[in-house]
Amino acid sequence: MKRVQLLRFLVQMGFLAAMAFVGFNTKLAANALAPAILLFGVFFCGWVCPLGAVQDWMSRLGRWLKLPRLRVPFRVQRYLQLIRYAFFMLLSAGVVIELLKGPYNFSKLVHGEIWTLASGIIVLFLLLGLFMDRPFCNYFCTGGARQGLFSVLRIFGIRRRAGNCVNCGMCSKKCPMNIDVSNTEFVRHPNCIGCMTCVTSCPKKCISYGLMPGLKATPGRKRG
Ligand code: SF4
Ligand code: SF4
Ligand code: SF4
Repeated sequence: MKRVQLLRFLVQMGFLAAMAFVGFNTKLAANALAPAILLFGVFFCGWVCPLGAVQDWMSRLGRWLKLPRLRVPFRVQRYLQLIRYAFFMLLSAGVVIELLKGPYNFSKLVHGEIWTLASGIIVLFLLLGLFMDRPFCNYFCTGGARQGLFSVLRIFGIRRRAGNCVNCGMCSKKCPMNIDVSNTEFVRHPNCIGCMTCVTSCPKKCISYGLMPGLKATPGRKRG
């Protein structure tokens, strides 16, 4: 495990332990870190969120047990990844409707059956995590979708220097959010969680984290 991935593992463990033993509130942490998304991207998902961390570890366990791996092809992922944004919009619309009805209905929506159902679904997604990378984050999490939408304007992010690239495809293959990094020069993808897996998996050190170009298209530069 490269040093940065070891550090990420330790940070994830630390936040999980803080949540379990001292009642650390991850939702409050996500809200507190929200302004930083505009600058640095969605680091909360890659480094803090316990649910993301457990999915990473389930994937690691699946690989260790040599279970078959599911990888959604990029041409399908392009459409499947929209599911979590659709859920986010549906949930937002539901919350707005309930807010219009009054505070009692809103609190019922937040604390009611919808979250019981969600907890059951999370367990299923965690088991699915044995066979594929971050299934809940990729296709279901509305919190990740909300943060991702803010991150597309980020100032710092993943950059790939095409010059030294040998097209091994490792960066795309290892990305837990199934982003086609090897065909991108600057990752502005809303699903990027800043996990640095692409950085540590590149054998030619072509990928780094740094200042992103302006949003205006530059000829010859592709964005993921
Ligand atoms: S996408 Fe959702 S579950 Fe996944 S790490 Fe982000 S907030 Fe946590
Ligand atoms: S593009 Fe790189 S940093 Fe972003 S999610 Fe994929 S592997 Fe992680
Ligand atoms: S891992 Fe590095 S060398 Fe391989 S395709 Fe990606 S950028 Fe190119």
